[in-house]
Amino acid sequence: MKRRVIVSDQNDQNNEQRACAKCGAELPKASAGDFTTGYAVLKENGAEVRVCYSCATAIERAWAHEHGELFAYAKQDETPRRVWDPRARKYQTWYAITAITSWPGNVLSDHVDVIGPAISNFGDLRVYFRFDLDGEAWYGTAYQSAGDYVRAKRCKHQTTSAENGRQN
Ligand SMILES: [Zn+2]
Repeated sequence: MKRRVIVSDQNDQNNEQRACAKCGAELPKASAGDFTTGYAVLKENGAEVRVCYSCATAIERAWAHEHGELFAYAKQDETPRRVWDPRARKYQTWYAITAITSWPGNVLSDHVDVIGPAISNFGDLRVYFRFDLDGEAWYGTAYQSAGDYVRAKRCKHQTTSAENGRQN
């Protein structure tokens, strides 16, 4: 299963393209010191093309529905929460998830139910969650060691049962 790759344009050498390759919208000009460029770079058939953020999000959303899998980002609650780590014998901090976003930060879902944190055998803190993506039930995992990056899959059985969140 090959994923379309959307990347930031830090290595982008294509300075000519000033319009979105998908919708033709004018792309913002990044100035020195800008943290983001204002557009995404899509690798398509070996070539890199620039697309606007809303097209980048639409591409991610369409890919997710086609493949039943999503690589996205979590918007986290600001309240630090604690969970006891029995191996490390100390509390670890975790944050609840309020929304799932695409790489440019556009909200894909703000109907997120956090099932809870869990600590793996390797001491890696994970947060399991369920969410609604365009009316479908999905479940996902956020790995604290990976920052706000999350992986998610569509539930095989489209029910609202809480059990679906643990099919990981
Ligand atoms: Zn566009």
